[in-house]
Amino acid sequence: MGSVSPDAVSQYLKQTRELFGDELFLDQTPTSTKTEPKKMNPDLPSNIDGFYKQIHNCTRCALGDSRTEFVFGVGDPKASLVLVGEAPGEQEDLKGEPFVGRAGKLLDKILTAIDRSRQKDVYICNVLKCRPPKNRDPLPDEVAECEPYLIHQINLIQPKLIVALGRVAGKTLLNVDKPLKSMRGILHDYHGTPLIVTYHPAALLRNPNWKPETWKDFKWIRSIIDE
Ligand code: SF4
Repeated sequence: MGSVSPDAVSQYLKQTRELFGDELFLDQTPTSTKTEPKKMNPDLPSNIDGFYKQIHNCTRCALGDSRTEFVFGVGDPKASLVLVGEAPGEQEDLKGEPFVGRAGKLLDKILTAIDRSRQKDVYICNVLKCRPPKNRDPLPDEVAECEPYLIHQINLIQPKLIVALGRVAGKTLLNVDKPLKSMRGILHDYHGTPLIVTYHPAALLRNPNWKPETWKDFKWIRSIIDE
């Protein structure tokens, strides 16, 4: 499992505070973001392709009947960075790939700016592998059924860092009900892997004023995965 040493994190936080002041440290209230690890099924495949083959016809929740395409994830199976959204949208459901369309193009530009891409050191997926009707938020029972798949994907990839894209992905993975603002700027933990929450690229399309804050987050992200 990828990890970041306490000394490295401490040094990073010190440097970041010097660069950005207290802006990233406004909410230092202890959070109940730690969730108990779920037990792994010992029969799950030990590589990403085998795992896809095993679950791509899943109907463990009702979304399996309404989806067009199963959206497993794309990218480098040994990536340092795993990006996680909440669920496929309309375009993703049609193409079977996460983060396509305008938001996906913006995400690709952000990745280029940190010298990464979908094919290079990054893996992109969602909490849910099937599209909720009308892009509604994932329901708790859907998350309960689908999240073990994400956990297994992450265990196979062993990234240094997970980035939750958007409030819904952040609160779902951290099992808290908080605004995005209070989840940003904190190095959380997701089953033993550091996790950062930042803006969803679709939100940046709606509100470009959030781009500078997002860029700060991605500079932080790069400093962690470049170590
Ligand atoms: S959302 Fe997840 S649990 Fe539900 S059918 Fe799709 S893959 Fe299975």
